[in-house]
Order: sequence, then C-alpha cells, then structure tokens
Amino acid sequence: MPYLQATDIAKRFNGTAALAGVNLAVERGESLALLGPSGCGKTTLLRILAGLELPDRGEITLEDETLSGPARFVSPEQRRIGMVFQDWALFPHMTVAGNVAFGLGKSVIDRIRVSETLDLVGLSHLADRYPDELSGGQAQRVAVARALAPRPRVLLFDEPFSNLDTDLRTRIRADVAALMREVGMTSIFVTHDQEESFVVGDRVAVMREGRIVQVGRPADLYQHPTSAWVATFVGEANLLNGVATNGHVSTEVGEVPLAGKVRGPCRVVIRPEHLAVDRGNQGVVSSVEFYGHDTSYELAVGGTRLLARVIAAPDFVPGDRVSVSYTGPGAAAFAAVSSS
Ligand code: ATP
Repeated sequence: MPYLQATDIAKRFNGTAALAGVNLAVERGESLALLGPSGCGKTTLLRILAGLELPDRGEITLEDETLSGPARFVSPEQRRIGMVFQDWALFPHMTVAGNVAFGLGKSVIDRIRVSETLDLVGLSHLADRYPDELSGGQAQRVAVARALAPRPRVLLFDEPFSNLDTDLRTRIRADVAALMREVGMTSIFVTHDQEESFVVGDRVAVMREGRIVQVGRPADLYQHPTSAWVATFVGEANLLNGVATNGHVSTEVGEVPLAGKVRGPCRVVIRPEHLAVDRGNQGVVSSVEFYGHDTSYELAVGGTRLLARVIAAPDFVPGDRVSVSYTGPGAAAFAAVSSS
C-alpha cells in the first residue's frame, strides 16, 4: 500500500467542481510535483490532504491510517502533515533558532529537536542570527527547517517559490528539492510551472479541470504524454496532422517514426528540438530568437507554423527559405478523433 493515498476525492464549491474524483499515491520519501494550470484544483487537493478542507467524497490514508473518509476525520493538528506556503516570512524579532522552535514546546526534547533540525539543514552556525542578517537562500532554508522541526510525516509546498525572482527561484527550488531527498521527507510541491515540476518532482502528477490526467517521471511525461493536451502542457510541441501506417506517419516534415501503435488519421507530437533546419525550399523562416545556448526558429511550412530549436547560433534570418526534417526518436501520436 502506498505511504500516502488519496482515493476518489471530490470537492464542489457553490456547485462548481474543484476536484472531480482524484486518485493519488505517494511513496515514502518520494517528492511529487502537482502540476496544472491555474484553477485546476491543486491547492484544493493540498488543503484536503492537510485537513484544512473537507472533501465531499473520497478517502485519504497515510501509513495505513485513515485520515479522512466516510466515517472518520482526523484534524489537521493530528495529521502530522506540514505545509509551506508562498510566503516564507520568518518572524523578524526571533533568531533562527527561535523561528525553528516556533510551534514546538519548551521541553528539553523540543530544544534538542531544534538543534537537530538546524544540523540537518546545515544552519547550526547561524542559530543566533536574526532574519535580516541572512541571505535569501539562508532565510528560505530556515523556513524549511521550521516546517521540518515538528517532524511531519509529509510536507506540502503550495507554490513555494513563486514570490522569488528568477535567479533565486532557480537556485532555491533545486536546493529545497535536494534537501527533501537528503532527509527522506515525503513531499508534494504544487506548481503551475512545468520546468519547476521537473526539477522538484521525482514524479509529476499533471492536473486538469479537477482531475489528475497523467502521473509519471519527468522524462516519461515529456517523451510519452498520453494526450495532446499533456504533450503541449509539459513542454513546447508542434502538433502535426498525418496518417499513421506501420509505425510511421507522413507529415509536412517527412516521415516520422511513432512510439505507439496509432493507426489512421492522427496528430503527432513533434518537439522543436527534434527538427533540423537546413537551406532549402520547403518553407520560410518567420522569426529567429537566439538565447545563447540555442536558437529558436518560427517557420511557415505549407501553411503550418512550426517551432524548431537548434543548439547553434542562428544560420538564418527571417525571410530565408529552408527545409525541415525530423531527427528525433519515435514520436507520440493520438488518433485525430481525440478532442484532448
Ligand atoms: P492556482 O494555481 O490559480 O492557485 P489551483 O489549481 O490551486 O489554482 P484551486 O485554488 O484549488 O486551483 O481552485 C480550484 C477551483 O475551485 C477554482 O475554480 C476556484 O475558483 C475554486 N475555489 C477554490 N477555493 C474556493 C472557495 N473557498 N470558494 C469557492 N470556490 C473556490
């Protein structure tokens, strides 16, 4: 049985379904990212796991104990599930140790727990500093230590990095994810940022309109999306029409090998980095963006707009005539009748 399990969780607000039957399983020590667009129900699910919101239906178990179900509801204080919000704010008038001790008692055991936690996150040497004497990264580590100190069984993070500027955000999310793995903490990170979900999640659960539509390791999600919607949500993708026969599909960029067993009219997912751009007569370059590490081309090919990404400085300018070919592995494809 999984360490944490949510089964058929449903929740409506004023007649509108925020969650429409969510199933989720998280293993002990695993870090799961909950990824989805705004309003898809991520925060509601997190709040239900924490016990801050009552589900209309469904069951939650943690370590074989039912936390929420038809005949049982364990209060948030008794669940030993910690929550970290967007606002990492520390108490400015308390030292680092004081901040970490907040929420614990005054016993000797609690004092030992504070110093153990500071040790764990590598902050013992800063125990007597005040928040305004810390760097952004250190302050955020203290906030994580504060959440870890009561020894939660699970830590829930609700868009924890969204208030940080890009540089700090990139550094800190990797740091926190590494820390969670180091201490073996079972954690769930809510985010609407695909890149972030891939960095912090051992697995990523993709949510859409109150449902989890796919769960998998980042590379599996990227390479084997189970719908066109997931394909475009977890990265840039060209969706091309074609007709699949014998494991191949004929498209505007030539023959593309398929990863699955689709036959007949379909839409094939072509990642921009799997297109090669050469001088030729197939289409025209509409725009060029050079990012330093790679170049992104927007192309018009036979009435279709294509995005291509090459690891090189730009060879073409808008207006140049080019040819495009597929260089990637077996691509994902979906029967054209699919509305997703
Ligand atoms: P975001 O990324 O924007 O925070 P989310 O995926 O976390 O979005 P939720 O906050 O869970 O989404 O909201 C899911 C749906 O439920 C939304 O349509 C939202 O408007 C609605 N909702 C959430 N909380 C309440 C509430 N307390 N009362 C009424 N509607 C609510």
